[in-house]
Amino acid sequence: MTNYVFQNYDEKVSIGKIICLARTYQKHAQEMNTSVTDDPLLFLKPESSVIFNNESIIIPKMSSCLHHEVELGVVIGKKGKHITQNSAMSHVLGYVIALDITARDIQSVAKKNGWPWSIAKGFDTFAPISDVVLKEEISNPLDLDLELKVNGVIKQRSNTKFMIFSIERIIEFISEVMTLKRGDLILTGTPEGVGKIVEGDVIEANLRTICSLKVDVKKEK
Ligand code: MG
Repeated sequence: MTNYVFQNYDEKVSIGKIICLARTYQKHAQEMNTSVTDDPLLFLKPESSVIFNNESIIIPKMSSCLHHEVELGVVIGKKGKHITQNSAMSHVLGYVIALDITARDIQSVAKKNGWPWSIAKGFDTFAPISDVVLKEEISNPLDLDLELKVNGVIKQRSNTKFMIFSIERIIEFISEVMTLKRGDLILTGTPEGVGKIVEGDVIEANLRTICSLKVDVKKEK
């Protein structure tokens, strides 16, 4: 069991399932030559893919093309099923800045063949997350600047206001499918600007001044 790291909070919360959304920003859907969907598009990452600040993303032997995707992460604080949009925020504990690292070469083959994305998204180290910021410290989660730099150069810069689903809608939809439990993590999808990362890169991501994450990239030995 791996626990979250909190800013200014000292309860132990272990990381549960990781539910990820795809195509939640119009411009990212466009850059992938695809379109947004009426309902959220979901996939899962294993808890074993989580790493924290100052750790390393490992390029696995099976892939030669990893992409960065910077995303707002929502940490669930209270268990629920069939959660309504009205009560959704009461199930949120806090937020992280997260990376949804993707083996784009493996994902492309999967997309062509109609296969699941579990391999492309599920390697160890493919879910770097920052410390958790409690929701009380964030007035509006749908007006947060998010930014990602590779070796000091800005590659992704957007705002969560461009997300096509509200957090309430995302929680409502996911909890129609599966029970959300304390410690579960929702990665809400990436804005445009995704790109390749290679061995030796240093990746920094932040929700403006609220929280930040720094990891580097190594190759599997
Ligand atoms: Mg993503």
